[in-house]
Amino acid sequence: MKRMIIATKNKGKIAEFQQLFAKKGVEIRSLLDYDDVPDVEETGTTFAENAILKATTIANMFHEPVIADDSGLIVDALNGEPGVYSARYAGEGKNDQANIEKVLKKLQGVPFEQRTARFHCTLAVAKPNGDVTTVDGVCEGYITEEPVGENGFGYDPIFFVPEKQRTMAQLTKEEKNEISHRAKALQHLLHIWDKLFEKENES
Ligand code: IMP
Repeated sequence: MKRMIIATKNKGKIAEFQQLFAKKGVEIRSLLDYDDVPDVEETGTTFAENAILKATTIANMFHEPVIADDSGLIVDALNGEPGVYSARYAGEGKNDQANIEKVLKKLQGVPFEQRTARFHCTLAVAKPNGDVTTVDGVCEGYITEEPVGENGFGYDPIFFVPEKQRTMAQLTKEEKNEISHRAKALQHLLHIWDKLFEKENES
C-alpha cells in the first residue's frame, strides 16, 4: 500500500484526506504521527508558494511523498483579502471569530450580490526525488451579514453556498466534502494520481 504524509496537524483536514484517500488504498499519516516536527513558516505570497514550501520541506525531512495544502478565503469586494493571510487576518494569535468579525466589518453596507467570495485550495505533492506537482480547487459563494451554523471551522459560518442554500457551517461533514475547495483539489489530485506515481516508478 502506498503511504503519504499529509503536512498538517489539523485534525479536521486529516479526517478529510483520510476519507478521500481511503478509496485509493493509500495509507495516510500526518504530522501528528511524528514528534517534534517544526512548523513550516508560510512566507509565500500565493497559495501555491506556501503549499510547495510546506510539501518540499517535509519531504526533505522524511524522504517520503508528502501532500501539503494551503487554503483561504478570497472576497472580491475586499480585493481578494484575506487570501493567503486568512488564518491571521485579524492579527497573529487571533481566533476564527476575530477574523470573521474583521471581514464582516469591512463588508458593512455591501449588498448581497456584491459579496461574492470563494474558498481556494492549492495542494502540492512533493516526492523525495524533488518533483513537485500542484492542483487547485475552488468553492464559490457569498459572504453573509452574520455568522450562521455551528459546524466546520474558520470562515464557514459566514460563507453561503448557493447550491446548498445554506452556509458552510450548516453543512454536515459529508455535504462539505462534496463541494469544498479542498475536496475539489483532492478530486483533481486523484485524477492524476496514477500518472504521478507511474512516472516515479519509471525514474
Ligand atoms: P490553511 O493555511 O490552509 O490552514 O488555511 C488558512 C485559513 O483559511 C484557515 O485558518 C481558515 O481561516 C481559512 N480556511 C481554509 N479552509 C477553510 C474551510 O474549509 N472553511 C473555513 N475556513 C477555511
